[in-house]
Amino acid sequence: YDDRDGKIWMDGKMVDWRDANVHILTHAMHYASSVFEGERAYNGKIFKSRQHSERLHYSAGELDFEIPFSVDEIETAKALVLKEAGLTDAYVRAIAWRGAGPDMGVASARNPVHLAIAAWEWGAYYGDAKMKGAKLDISKWKRPSPETIPVHAKAAGLYMICTTSKHAAEAKGCSDALFMDYRGYVAEATGANIFFVKDGEVHTPLADCFLNGLTRQTVIGLLKDKGIAVHERHIMPDEMEGFEQCWLTGTAAEVTPVGQIGDYHFEVGALTRDIAETYEKLVRS
Ligand code: PMP
Repeated sequence: YDDRDGKIWMDGKMVDWRDANVHILTHAMHYASSVFEGERAYNGKIFKSRQHSERLHYSAGELDFEIPFSVDEIETAKALVLKEAGLTDAYVRAIAWRGAGPDMGVASARNPVHLAIAAWEWGAYYGDAKMKGAKLDISKWKRPSPETIPVHAKAAGLYMICTTSKHAAEAKGCSDALFMDYRGYVAEATGANIFFVKDGEVHTPLADCFLNGLTRQTVIGLLKDKGIAVHERHIMPDEMEGFEQCWLTGTAAEVTPVGQIGDYHFEVGALTRDIAETYEKLVRS
């Protein structure tokens, strides 16, 4: 955690892991003015690295701040972090935030923007669920309307209900929680997108009020390459009764089969296994 050897890139410098700290009056701590990325390196190369850096810039823009490092500079910094850590397979976390400064109120235009990048080893996000199929609880919270909050930003503020939903799920013996959206449609898990299979075709919620994950987009492309029909559409929760297979996608989650959501059961079927393997091959190629 914080008390360990290693280096973290902060604002252009490599600092000791233990010294990578922020002040208590950091604006982001008080008002969630921070955006981040979760990335994975395989065989020394970050999968979709540039798209992650571009999304970080996009997310910052949605929160009305500008990261003082270009996408190219972030790319160089991430490579440096991996090299310094001596890791070829790693999770990479880039985070940008409004720091401490003259503004202690809601406005923060005069406070500096910071960027940090850390990398560490992180195995299967859902542990052995990756083989058996994860069990999901249904969250009591809803993914909000795009008129409520910038839903396509990977911003800390959007994760408040992810943490509480995941805690509630874990207390019930589940690995994660599934959100419905503000209209009642199936949305996403707390850190991953969701797919269903029925009669050899794939159905996934339309990403109109949540993060359109890079893994989601990759997997849709892989399915289409295999000639499998993919329907991006609004999905009602009771449709889950008729779905045969289900999986989650995300940088950390990769492709994780789902065995159960509330009272709905799914098999870890051939297509789920096939797409998980194809994704694994792609990220390592
Ligand atoms: N939704 C949420 C809420 C997430 O945190 C993530 C992980 N970044 C995803 C979806 C999947 O996004 P990606 O495939 O780009 O990692």
